[in-house]
Amino acid sequence: MEPNKSLNSFCNYPQLERTTTIVLKIGTSILIDSDTNLLKSKWLKSFVEEVAELKKIGKNIIIVSSGAIALGRKILNLNSKKLELDEIQASAAVGQIRLAQAYETNLNQLNLNSAQILLTADDSHHRRRYLNIRSTMKSLLKLGVVPIVNENDTVATDEIKFGDNDRLAAQVALTSEADLLILLSDIDGLYEEDPHSNPNAKHFSTIQNITPKLLKMAGSTKSDNSKGGMITKLEAARISMNGGCEMIITDGSKNYPLTNFINGVSKHTRFVPRDDRAKLRKKWILSIKTKGNLFVDSGAILALRRNKSLLPAGVIKSSGNFQRGDAVEIISNDFEKIGQGLSGYSSIEVEKIKGCKTFEIEKKLGYPSRTALVHKDDLVLS
Ligand code: GLU
Repeated sequence: MEPNKSLNSFCNYPQLERTTTIVLKIGTSILIDSDTNLLKSKWLKSFVEEVAELKKIGKNIIIVSSGAIALGRKILNLNSKKLELDEIQASAAVGQIRLAQAYETNLNQLNLNSAQILLTADDSHHRRRYLNIRSTMKSLLKLGVVPIVNENDTVATDEIKFGDNDRLAAQVALTSEADLLILLSDIDGLYEEDPHSNPNAKHFSTIQNITPKLLKMAGSTKSDNSKGGMITKLEAARISMNGGCEMIITDGSKNYPLTNFINGVSKHTRFVPRDDRAKLRKKWILSIKTKGNLFVDSGAILALRRNKSLLPAGVIKSSGNFQRGDAVEIISNDFEKIGQGLSGYSSIEVEKIKGCKTFEIEKKLGYPSRTALVHKDDLVLS
């Protein structure tokens, strides 16, 4: 860490103190040298040191990193030409190994474990897969691991892909219930005009709403040479703000990018969340059309009111036809609605495990599974 610079001081960004989980998005242009298409190893080392420092003060860190395609095309000697889709996908497959390896080596030197997670937009649109990603992410964070996320470019074709890591990062932030998303880019925030063509363009320090006027302004602003321009950054901001997560755009191109942001060396734009994350999530759960009912006993109702998850042991019967991830109503024996939540099991599975103790679930199903039928985080009581 550079002298007199510490992430502990939070001076220019006091909000950092209140965060638990932070998603850091790294654009291709700040990680890969655009002339050589090689990884900027000094930059990466400085950034990973900052990650280690944030971990030391108790933050969960998730990295969403671009760079696979650029690294892969260098390795495959495909630098000079415009790539076809299959060549882009091949480059991503080759580059992703190199990318993950670079993070792994650097994090490992600081005694941190990393994990690779490759996602497509489709994964977060399917509630069942979304729940799986969320619980894997939670376990990794609990184990102190730093997940390294990228789009699964080798399987993602147009209809199922994000196409840019800005929106992917925003989705990851919501899925992992992050408090803060930082887009490290080669531009230090949102401007009224393109600062490359007008150096006096007005810089915005805080944005409360993504208005059509802002989107129009952003249309003329170029950011890094990756897929995402300012428009995709604003779309990421909209996803993030609507989900209750704060988002920052700051210049990440110099070494020690987070220290520069926190100490005010690099400017930034702050996108303020619409409401409290827990409240927005409750609203979302209540807005989903339910596909079935779980009838529960009085012991389960007491446990739910004490902020516990609903376990199979407390379920007397079920009705409806639902899949893991679908919304269900929780009903008492005398037909009073107790709440609504996302089911951790399908209706067929519920019929097999209702009334069972946790240790009996695997035997009844024939395969291991999670314990909660409706996890407390996926539950809203009436
Ligand atoms: N997933 C792409 C890569 O790793 C980057 C997408 C983007 O630049 O936003 O190369």
